[in-house]
Amino acid sequence: MNKQTEPLDEDARRARMVLALRSGGVMDAKVLAAIEQTPRDLFVPDLFQERAWEDSALPIACGQTISQPLIVGLMTQALRIEWRSRVLEIGTGSGYQTAVLAKIARYVYSMERYRTLLGEAESRLKKLGVQNVITRFGDGGEGWPEQAPFDRILVTAAADKEPTALLAQLKPTGVLVAPVGRGPVQVLKRYTADGKGGFTTEDMGEVRFVPLLPGVAEAL
Ligand code: SAH
Repeated sequence: MNKQTEPLDEDARRARMVLALRSGGVMDAKVLAAIEQTPRDLFVPDLFQERAWEDSALPIACGQTISQPLIVGLMTQALRIEWRSRVLEIGTGSGYQTAVLAKIARYVYSMERYRTLLGEAESRLKKLGVQNVITRFGDGGEGWPEQAPFDRILVTAAADKEPTALLAQLKPTGVLVAPVGRGPVQVLKRYTADGKGGFTTEDMGEVRFVPLLPGVAEAL
């Protein structure tokens, strides 16, 4: 086989993904390194293994998706995580974003409304030796009052309106990033607490996420 037609090896695929992230606006070296070092193939179903290092969202179980790496990068960067940050993530899904956060933050608290997804994500994180993630099955729309307040909150499903219950669980200098909107396309919003009980809000572009649904999924 001619060298140029051989499939790219994994290192080359990883490097290509990092380039895509850089050109999409991910500049933070810690975020780029965390994504480069997180084996996305472990989080992608067998059927899509070939596409694990592509910069695209892919289907996972329960009708959900593993986020596009560029969006994972932009959202993680937008959070401005510090080494001692305690981060709450809503929507564990495959656990991919959780694993990326865990490389940068002190502790990650992650909530999911499908037991199946949560169980699979937990075993992947265990396999990777990740020790600073605490998970919970439940409705993330309500947050995690027992562990609040958080330095950072990341919502990886689209809230139809301002996530007020979650904003209330943010520290006075905290940051919350969430897709907000009802339709198939939402606006990525960053809320920065002003220390006086208010927030400044910034729009960070259009994104497409599965909806943040109320309650927990019963059977799955
Ligand atoms: N961060 C994930 C993205 C998963 S898609 C990844 O990288 O794979 C969004 C996830 O949010 C789905 O798994 C969905 O089940 C979950 N979700 C939706 N509404 C929720 C809620 N109210 N509480 C917790 N999880 C929720």
